[in-house]
Amino acid sequence: MSALAPLHNAAFNSMELLPRCCRHAAPRRLTRIPLTSRPISRFSPRVAYRNLQTSSTSHSRIPDFAFAFDIDGVLIRGAQRLPHAAQALTYLQRHSIPFILLTNGGGYDEEIRAEKLTEEIGVPLDPSMIVQSHTPFADMDEYKDGCTLVVGGEHDNCRLVAQNYGFTNVVTPSDIFRNHPELWPFSRPLAAYHHRTAHDTSHRIDVGNPATLKVDSIFVYNDPRDWGLDISLIVDCLLSQGGRVGTLSSKNGDAALPNRGYQQDGQPPLFFSNPDLWFAAEFATPRLGQGGFREALEGVWAAVTSEGTGLPPVKLQRTVIGKPHRETYLFAERKLNRYREATFGGHGRELPKLKNVYMVGDNPASDIMGAMNYKSPFGTTWSSALVRTGVYAGGEPAAAPSTTVDHVGDAVRWAVKDSGWANDID
Ligand SMILES: [Mg+2]
Repeated sequence: MSALAPLHNAAFNSMELLPRCCRHAAPRRLTRIPLTSRPISRFSPRVAYRNLQTSSTSHSRIPDFAFAFDIDGVLIRGAQRLPHAAQALTYLQRHSIPFILLTNGGGYDEEIRAEKLTEEIGVPLDPSMIVQSHTPFADMDEYKDGCTLVVGGEHDNCRLVAQNYGFTNVVTPSDIFRNHPELWPFSRPLAAYHHRTAHDTSHRIDVGNPATLKVDSIFVYNDPRDWGLDISLIVDCLLSQGGRVGTLSSKNGDAALPNRGYQQDGQPPLFFSNPDLWFAAEFATPRLGQGGFREALEGVWAAVTSEGTGLPPVKLQRTVIGKPHRETYLFAERKLNRYREATFGGHGRELPKLKNVYMVGDNPASDIMGAMNYKSPFGTTWSSALVRTGVYAGGEPAAAPSTTVDHVGDAVRWAVKDSGWANDID
């Protein structure tokens, strides 16, 4: 029997026949604690969900490879599970082959996302297996004590995510808008939404008063819902004196200064979590993602810094993480190695680092390009499989994958064979 037979055997296929509500165990309720202080899972799904398995076929050797799966367009599309997703992940769990879900999506706490995905995919997933676009923000301790403007996401979900990461003083555009609707009068038709979303009434703009709102950092966690308000407020912060909203820095436009004086006066640093211009959703064609919002902001910033000067625009200073950027792949690789250590290490035994990581994605400009460009500090080789179930619509991809396959099941089959883990797959 082929080593990948569980992808095809009747026991697994029978899951497809069950009512959706019966395909998985009920999501666990976990105590909400900061991610950074959470213990690393010992691949609990292997134990906790063995009722989904029919027999053990685990290898006695330790896998020297692991997987990073994109989610949208690979495992799900909209809220619908894609074919072969459940079988592929179940196979890996059954063989204790480490994997994480590495997505440029977000907007929810990792626990909530894991519960949601467990339900959607029908495979038990632990929060520690989820790396969302904003998950690396959890490690940015230097910004946790200042006032953080958290942008994007639905309602105040991202405020809760940031607080769960340990950010102690979070303000959202809705908080500010509720106190100061004059900030962006065109959002008045959305006032009911912002009022429901706003929490903190203490953030007031009172220029001249030492207690006036002063933003120390700006984090775009997820796709903004009110682009006009959010762009306007971010630009206000970036033009301000030291992040005091409602002020204007006298250094703006000073040609004697670096960057013509823009963002040279203690303004807050700006971080984006997701560079994707497009994402695959239930609509017939891809939708504009957080990358679209950033382009819009940069377009406004270019106009603001060049209008009437006869000079070229000043480039917006900002940091973007998320695939295809290196920081996100490094974060993912460390997490996979920690998993591996927690699963197979111990008793003073030091494991060699991973030999191969396989990135499975649907977006050549994101998933595939990141894997192609990433250089591991641990000597790990990153390969990639491009699937045809999402953004990629055929033709020459923006970045060349190691292989192109129809779906995630074929991606796992290819990688397992490529790694030498099982040569009898076909
Ligand atoms: Mg995708």
